[in-house]
Amino acid sequence: MHVGFIGLGNMGAPLARRLCTDHTLWVFDQSQTAVDTLSGADAQVTKSAAELAESVDIVLTCLPTSEDLRSLLFGDQQVASVLKAGTMLIDMTTGDPGITRDLAAKLALDGIDLIDAPVSGGPKGATAGTIAIIVGGSAAQFSRALPVLSSISCNVMHAGDVGAGHAVKAGNNLLNLVCRLATFEVVSLLVKAGVTPENAVSIIQKSSGRNYATEITLPDNILSGTLHQGFTMGLMHKDSSVALQMADDLNVPLPISTTAFANLKQAMNEHGQESDMSAVALTYENDSGARIRP
Ligand code: NAD
Repeated sequence: MHVGFIGLGNMGAPLARRLCTDHTLWVFDQSQTAVDTLSGADAQVTKSAAELAESVDIVLTCLPTSEDLRSLLFGDQQVASVLKAGTMLIDMTTGDPGITRDLAAKLALDGIDLIDAPVSGGPKGATAGTIAIIVGGSAAQFSRALPVLSSISCNVMHAGDVGAGHAVKAGNNLLNLVCRLATFEVVSLLVKAGVTPENAVSIIQKSSGRNYATEITLPDNILSGTLHQGFTMGLMHKDSSVALQMADDLNVPLPISTTAFANLKQAMNEHGQESDMSAVALTYENDSGARIRP
């Protein structure tokens, strides 16, 4: 099967690398630096997204936002116009469910399937082949996409109809934000109370307060001193905004999430939207006077 991958950033590059082993892979990114990260992999680099779209049966995308996908398909590059009827587009972007449903309906008029398949687990999970892939599409579309997605990970899950993958992913990331910030709050408190950050995190990880931040985020990215997760504050802001917009549309109050979002905005104003999510630790250190990093 001929497969293409567009968007070789922090997340897309390790996802694309996994596909090379099982499929003939075409890749494209508008940034040469991003393309270079795939050097050594068995993939053919195309000169444009349109050239890639003409050459394959299945196109995967991992772009910053759903608006980027809309502009790739229907903007200057007009990629939608060169996709053959019968092509499947699998969008691994963390996107907006409403925009995805809209684009899927438009593409369906030309016999092109668009499904959403955002991921959770970061570049580390992608490289390990364990990343969660959360699919939105019909049962038939899920079956068609499964062999390709299974080359990337053993954890491919069907969330529901098109858009459901993006909805679940947005909810998941909002929950990740809440747990992460609550963990920084409590660890700052314990450090100020005289406990080492390592003890605070490792003991909570074996107790009832454990979560992804005590298991992965703090040990790997903060206590190690690297301050690098490979996920920007701007992307977390975008994901949380999608979930909060869904809550607004559906009239569901989210007071805890709204507070966490305000704290994220404060950190983003301090460090900039391109800064790594790990920089949130610096905001908590400043506010509490407790040093969490080594
Ligand atoms: P990134 O900014 O590192 O990469 C995005 C890539 O898309 C860039 O290389 C950019 O050049 C390329 N691109 C943008 N528009 C393009 C176009 N029209 N044509 C070709 N290439 C184009 O972002 P990322 O961290 O890889 O994130 C991508 C998506 O994955 C986002 O939606 C993000 O929320 C999601 N995600 C990221 C992580 C993570 O840990 N980084 C984890 C889960 C999900």
